[in-house]
Amino acid sequence: RLIVFEGIDGTGKSTQILLLGEYLRRQGHEVLITREPTDGQFGRKIRKLYADRKQVSQQEELELFLADRREHCQTELLPALRLGKIVLCDRYFLSTVAYQGANGFDPAMILEHNAFAPDPDLALIFEVSVATSLKRITQGRGEQLNDFEQEESLTRVSAIFDLLDLPYITRIDAEQTIEEIHRAVITAAQNIVPQ
Ligand code: C5P
Repeated sequence: RLIVFEGIDGTGKSTQILLLGEYLRRQGHEVLITREPTDGQFGRKIRKLYADRKQVSQQEELELFLADRREHCQTELLPALRLGKIVLCDRYFLSTVAYQGANGFDPAMILEHNAFAPDPDLALIFEVSVATSLKRITQGRGEQLNDFEQEESLTRVSAIFDLLDLPYITRIDAEQTIEEIHRAVITAAQNIVPQ
C-alpha cells in the first residue's frame, strides 16, 4: 500500500508521517518512510538548488523532479511495495502538479508526465490557510522564505491542490491540533491498510 502526504508548506506533514509510521508499526506492519525530493542524486540536486536560491529553467526543474521520482520508484517504492510493506511518502506527484503547475505548467500535462509512477492508494492532502502556512514557516522553523514560500506562490499552489479531484484523495483539516490530525489520518489510513 502506498500512502502519500501532500499539501503546501507548514501543514505538519512531516510530523504526521512519523506518527502514522509509529502507529502502523505498533499494529505489526512493515513500514517504509520516505520523501521527495529524495536523498538520491537528483533529489539532492533539487534541494541544493533551493538552498542556494539558484534559478534553473522551469523545464529543467520539472525534469529534475521527474528524474528523481523515476529513480525513487525503481529503487525504493516499487521494491518495498512488492515486499508488502506500507510505504509512506512525504510529497509525491501531486506536489509536482501543484508546485510546478503554479510555476506555469498545465497541471493536467504534469499529471500525464507522471503516468510511469504508481498511483497512491491514498493521497492525504493537508489543508491549512496560506496565512497559517506562512506563520508556521517563519515562526516555527525560523526559516528564511524562499521563492516558493512567498504568499503569492503559496496561494497559487494551494489553489491547484484545491482543484485536484482524484479517487484516492482524502483532505485533512490541518488547522487542528497534532492529536486531532493524527486521528483523522488514522481513520483515512484504516480504509486502505490490510487488517
Ligand atoms: O517537503 P518540503 O516541505 O521540505 O519541500 C521542500 C521545498 O520544495 C518546499 O519549500 C516546496 O516549496 C518545494 N517543492 C517544490 N516543488 C515540488 C516539491 C517541493 O517547489 N514539487
